[in-house]
Amino acid sequence: MRVCVYGAASPTIDPEYMELVEQMGREMVRRGHSLVFGGGGNGLMGAAARGVRAEGGYIFGVIPKFFDEENVEAICDFCDELIMPDTMRERKQIMEDNADAFIVVPGGIGTFEEFFEILTLKQLCRHNKPIAVYNLKGYYDDLNHVMELSMKKNFIRENCKELYFTTDDLNEMFDYIENPAEQIHTVKELKDG
Ligand code: AMP
Repeated sequence: MRVCVYGAASPTIDPEYMELVEQMGREMVRRGHSLVFGGGGNGLMGAAARGVRAEGGYIFGVIPKFFDEENVEAICDFCDELIMPDTMRERKQIMEDNADAFIVVPGGIGTFEEFFEILTLKQLCRHNKPIAVYNLKGYYDDLNHVMELSMKKNFIRENCKELYFTTDDLNEMFDYIENPAEQIHTVKELKDG
């Protein structure tokens, strides 16, 4: 599978996250997957790419041109293929179009945005690809609480829980994306409005 990983650009996070995401990259390749990602050289994007490279896996990066021109973020310099579109929107579209599954590792605003965009598109039945949240060191516990609160208060339908899977177990996560439960809901069942 082509697995898109969304994750932090920041190099100043706890190095334990880096180690765990590098391991995840290695496991991806052992399970026969390739990497699609935002092309960053630092943070957890860089860690995922290093893990994939260590096992000889294929790396497809997508990073807007202005990241290079304006020195926004470090760019991974060992991608097998690197596409440089003009805009952030094009970047996400290319990543989405070229992925069969999505893994969200810890990150900041950019990662949240990417997670929620791919989740809303699944809620609207614009795709039916597995989405896994890799909840390393409990990083996404509070996000899960916010989602539960929103469900309890009827802002989100309960069955939207089935749109993604959260775990801190590497094997469980890959098992999920490789064998996702079939989504049988229609958009009207997933969304009030
Ligand atoms: P962060 O989680 O904030 O460290 O960002 C992770 C990646 O998402 C970085 O490469 C950001 O540049 C990127 N990013 C931030 N905002 C957006 C956006 N609106 N669309 C696409 N990617 C974004």
